[in-house]
Amino acid sequence: MYQPSEKNRERFQALAALPAVRTALELIERDQDRCIEEQCELTCIEAPTGSEEKRAGVFAEKLRALGLEDVHIDRNGNVVALRRGRGGGPKVVIEGHLDTVFPFGTVTGVERRDGFLYAPGIGDDTRALAMLLSLVRAMNEAGIETAGDVVIVGTAREEGVGSLGGMKDFLADNGDIEAALSVDNHDMGEIGYQATSGETWEIRFSGQGGHAFGAFGSISQPLHAAARAVAKIADIEVPEQPKTSYCVSNFHSGNDAGVHAIASEAVIKLNFRSNSVQEFEKLKAKIFDAVEAACREETERWGKNAVCCEKKLIGSMPGGEQDADSPLVQAAWLSLEHLGVTPSLSKGGCTNANVAIAKGIPALCIGRAWAPDAESRKSYNHSLDERYPIAGAYKPVQQALLVLLSAAGVYGAVDSVLK
Ligand SMILES: [Zn+2]
Repeated sequence: MYQPSEKNRERFQALAALPAVRTALELIERDQDRCIEEQCELTCIEAPTGSEEKRAGVFAEKLRALGLEDVHIDRNGNVVALRRGRGGGPKVVIEGHLDTVFPFGTVTGVERRDGFLYAPGIGDDTRALAMLLSLVRAMNEAGIETAGDVVIVGTAREEGVGSLGGMKDFLADNGDIEAALSVDNHDMGEIGYQATSGETWEIRFSGQGGHAFGAFGSISQPLHAAARAVAKIADIEVPEQPKTSYCVSNFHSGNDAGVHAIASEAVIKLNFRSNSVQEFEKLKAKIFDAVEAACREETERWGKNAVCCEKKLIGSMPGGEQDADSPLVQAAWLSLEHLGVTPSLSKGGCTNANVAIAKGIPALCIGRAWAPDAESRKSYNHSLDERYPIAGAYKPVQQALLVLLSAAGVYGAVDSVLK
């Protein structure tokens, strides 16, 4: 059974008992309808990965209206705002991503039905943007002064080919960030503290090509080399724990006109991941060895016209390891217990928190929905049926507040858990 330390438990109780914190929690609950309104408003401003400008502009305007300092869109397309602390605590970033996986023209409105909001992107991660606004509003109205500075960010290019790009750029430009909170889980009960390493590669096998009968025996066959590679990769053994995976997701070669031709080229794409950096590196070496061996074997089989392979990295997700007993994880656990939500530690993660964890910055990915039962846990994220459960929508905002204050510390009252 997971057990936060006595010291952190006491510190958390002191935090939760502060009158300003209790007021802020109440304000957040009362702000639920407004928060949902802003969530719907922002959802209707579409923001496919790499085209977040319009949504970024509106989000920045809203942060400015909340009186935050230095609100701007940085050179990487991220919306950045500062809520200055009074000193004596770490600088903490809390962020949600601006982009969605849907092209322009997908969202036609938000439908409210059976206790859910329905629209592509309604949860992932538009809800997080609305949460950040509600959070700041409550902190302002309750007069909460943090010790450390809080930086509120709407990040660009998180999804798909964006490959966590906005967060990578933001942390590269802001070397003084000491803790990072990403709001990008569906279920708030899940504490995301693991950063799964992952890479996606395209591997091109090429050779001469020729007639299926006429050239047979005088040339090596690139498609056969690719098939040898896939067969070898398919046999690689990986541990169940820490979870490690691989998948050849694409295999393209030849064409309908060339059914009697030795194709001159074959291309595979594959993705592999691990919760352990060490296992990831081991797996990567095995995959590349398999590819080299496949080319070599196919070439040696015929003894002429070598098949060459060319590898191209097309996506990378930095990973890293963080202890389950780290102070931020304990703070998130205590926050959930305080709110009556059963906490669980997630098994791996691929969110903006990865970027921070890979850099050795304490970080978490926390949730944006209260999902106490099987129905509310079904978010259908990344699909046209995406939905967000309305009941208890204020709870994840309360959690975000408690975790944020645990990280930044409350000036003159409660130290940061990171101190
Ligand atoms: Zn997301």
